[in-house]
Amino acid sequence: MGKDLNRRTWGPADEATPNEQRRASLYVAAMAGDAADCRQLLDVLGLLPKHLTVQHGMRGYRAGCRCKACRKANTERNRRQRTAQPRVYLTEAEWQARRDQHTTTGEQ
Ligand SMILES: [Zn+2]
Repeated sequence: MGKDLNRRTWGPADEATPNEQRRASLYVAAMAGDAADCRQLLDVLGLLPKHLTVQHGMRGYRAGCRCKACRKANTERNRRQRTAQPRVYLTEAEWQARRDQHTTTGEQ
């Protein structure tokens, strides 16, 4: 009786080991016509390294990508943080003073 692999019988033991994935990736790379073809084949087979599937921008920068788009996103974030207004924390007395000032000017 052959091994019937389907959605119900598929288990963790049937997943490819890292070594098998690496060998499959190398085979696909050897058979691919060019880099774009190789990348597409690896993508549909789920063999692309995780860091290559991360989207670019701030998420990409956090994941370690230093391409132009990711560095730009990080620069923008740093600029926003530099120019942001600092938060002001008031003590209870300061709140009271502001409230009093507001109510007195409101009456005049
Ligand atoms: Zn990037």
